[in-house]
Amino acid sequence: MGIRFGPSGNSLSFYEQGYKSSVEAPKWLAGMGLSAYEYSCTKGVNIKEETASILGEEAAKYDIALSIHAPYYISMASTDARKRDNSIEYILQSLQAARWMDAKRVVFHPGSCSKMDRGKALEIAMETLKRTIEEADRRGLGDITLCPETLGKKNQLGSLEEVLEMCGMDGRLMPTIDFGHIHAYTGGGLESSRDFEKVMDIIERELGTQRTKNLHVHFSRIEFTQGGEKKHWTFDDIQYGPEFEHLAPVIVKKGLQPTIICESRGTMAEDAGKMKEIYEMALKAL
Ligand SMILES: [Zn+2]
Repeated sequence: MGIRFGPSGNSLSFYEQGYKSSVEAPKWLAGMGLSAYEYSCTKGVNIKEETASILGEEAAKYDIALSIHAPYYISMASTDARKRDNSIEYILQSLQAARWMDAKRVVFHPGSCSKMDRGKALEIAMETLKRTIEEADRRGLGDITLCPETLGKKNQLGSLEEVLEMCGMDGRLMPTIDFGHIHAYTGGGLESSRDFEKVMDIIERELGTQRTKNLHVHFSRIEFTQGGEKKHWTFDDIQYGPEFEHLAPVIVKKGLQPTIICESRGTMAEDAGKMKEIYEMALKAL
């Protein structure tokens, strides 16, 4: 479906220009030359069916690919069985909302390691994910792509390797590669195109060419400490990495067609537009 760029949620400028509802976002984004939109359910899946279907119609009209970000409080490896059951339910609610708006992807955070050995936490998370997929299939929602995300804090379950292992479980899973998070998790490990290429090579080795080609990507500049992720910044905050200029040539060289969602603070749509420009320049430089 080709490479796509778009924001996570709505830019401050969207509201400053007088827009109020996310159903107005597809038209607004198309006007900026963007073609993706991640609807945020990070604080809970509260969207009504009617609103979701209007958003879906608008997105179809303006060729905006929709995805949903599931609630932040999902915890697939919780030691509390009830919290794991609830996590499954939050993902299923997100999948249902995705169905209403015809979003093709649902992004979720695997959660924390719950002070466990990482291997054990991963095992539990994968069991929870397996049950999620079974229930999604049972409810007829199994065609919507689940996208576990690489996380930025060291005590979270979501290193690149862990997310790829999860995705190895079912061919329908697609990783959300959050390069800001990887940069934070590795203490500033993405400093050059070569570093980004290494990440892509690992993904390709683990998941094959097809999934690597259509990755779900999150990108923003990020501040980190020893514990990993601290805060997302904007493209103007150039003291923080990583640099999209380093990723764009790798996308071009490998012929990838990811959906790239910008998670800048307040300027996500504008910065998605900047990434699109940088990508187009990298294409010309080929
Ligand atoms: Zn996320």
